[in-house]
Parts: sequence; structure tokens; C-alpha cells
Amino acid sequence: MSNKIQGDIFKEVKSNLNIIDVATRLGSHLNQQKRNTLVGTCPTGHPSKSKKSFEVNTSLQLCHCYNCKMGGDVFTIVEEVKKLSKWESLKWLVKEFNLKIDTTKLQPSYKPTPEEILEKNTLINRSFLLEKNSRYWKRSVI
Ligand SMILES: [Zn+2]
Repeated sequence: MSNKIQGDIFKEVKSNLNIIDVATRLGSHLNQQKRNTLVGTCPTGHPSKSKKSFEVNTSLQLCHCYNCKMGGDVFTIVEEVKKLSKWESLKWLVKEFNLKIDTTKLQPSYKPTPEEILEKNTLINRSFLLEKNSRYWKRSVI
């Protein structure tokens, strides 16, 4: 089993899902804030006074919690909330959303190291910051 095929199946699952549905299914209550942004409670279930600590960006298909720092794509949310590996989270999503994708022939091989997870979280935080900055930039030019 090559990594390419494994990569494709992750892409396929992702393209069949909307991160809002996944977050909602895991217990997040979201409200539309801007066209591409919803905010609400974090699906990991920690208390949040404002109930706005969790942000979902639908155009990026990424989420981020300003409280517990959890963030990422559809797989990351399942990994964090259900305490599963990336591979197990893929299978959970396929089953939970009845996706017509055959995962039985594939074997798990991908397990990120703590360094990789940290790097990924840093990238996500940065992309949220970048987006905020570009919004600000657009505003200040107009
Ligand atoms: Zn959180």
C-alpha cells in the first residue's frame, strides 16, 4: 500500500464532508458570524463563558479553538474529541456519515510524531492570523 493511495483516501473523505457537519455532530453549537466564519462552543466540551471560543472557517475548512488551542481539519477534530489516531478518525467519519468509501483494504501506517502535530498546529494558527491580517488590510485600504 503506497502513501499516495492513503493520501488520496484522506482527500476523498475530506471532499465529501463539511467541517461544520463534523463539528456539529461532535457536539459543537455554532452560529454564523461572517460569510465564511461560524463561532460557537468547542466540541471537546470544555466550558466557555463567551460560547465563541471555537471558530470554524468554511472556506478553509479549518477550525480553531482560542481557548484550548485545538485546531485543524475534519480529521483533527475527530482525533481530539474521540481520542483516535488519524486513521481511526477517517474510519469513524466514513461510518458516521455513511460515505461510500471502502476503507477495508487499506492498512493504517500514518502516525504523526509530536513534532509533526506541533508543526501542523503552528501552521493552522498562522493561517488564521494571516486571514485576520488580510481582512484588516483590505479594510484599511478601502
Ligand atoms: Zn476548545
